Amino acid sequence: MIIHHHLDDATLLAYASGTLDEALSVAAASHAAMCDECLSKIRTAEAIGGSVLEEIDETPMDAGALDALLERLDGPLPDNVIATGRSLPSHAIKSDLPLPLARHMDWPLDEVPWRKVAPGISVCDLPVSDQANGQLKLLKIAAGKALPEHGHGGTELTLILKGAYSDEFGRFAAGDAADHDVDAEHKPIVEPGEDCICVIATEAPTKFKGLVSRILQPIVGI
Ligand code: ZN
Ligand code: ZN
Repeated sequence: MIIHHHLDDATLLAYASGTLDEALSVAAASHAAMCDECLSKIRTAEAIGGSVLEEIDETPMDAGALDALLERLDGPLPDNVIATGRSLPSHAIKSDLPLPLARHMDWPLDEVPWRKVAPGISVCDLPVSDQANGQLKLLKIAAGKALPEHGHGGTELTLILKGAYSDEFGRFAAGDAADHDVDAEHKPIVEPGEDCICVIATEAPTKFKGLVSRILQPIVGI
């Protein structure tokens, strides 16, 4: 798999330090499970974080935090990083979904119970724990469909699982992560031939522009 779009450095660091929200962590870990480049950056950030914490041992800190970090340095990545208590469903064993995501899905990708929210647009909310601030959902956009131009009111991380779309930032296909600045606006257009399925993690509502968009916003919630 050739990946062209990666996690932002701020996302990598937040993930490695364990401060990234759960929903965003699932998307970040899922990308890292498909991307050696981001995985090795996370490992490096964690190793540096661990040694820094060891050096500043006179600073009062939660004893559990250091243990948790050291444990993560030893364990396999990235599947163990997210302690949401969800076990791996049986369909995940044979699926080609990244395991951090498969943990949050009760069905294989071709059996997702889609909820149609607008012509050519379906969503499916994925479970996250009560501690999560953000939302995690699957989004399916029909082949050839154009989404209205919109910005993002908060942090949003999209991982493409299937199909492809293009926008102002380039072409995004399976494995690519769209990890843009909060104020970046874009107008994604899905390529013809195949529906585009992505997983989207958000921490705040998306801001659509224009009337149609404002009507779409509460329905789609992306
Ligand atoms: Zn990457
Ligand atoms: Zn968007």
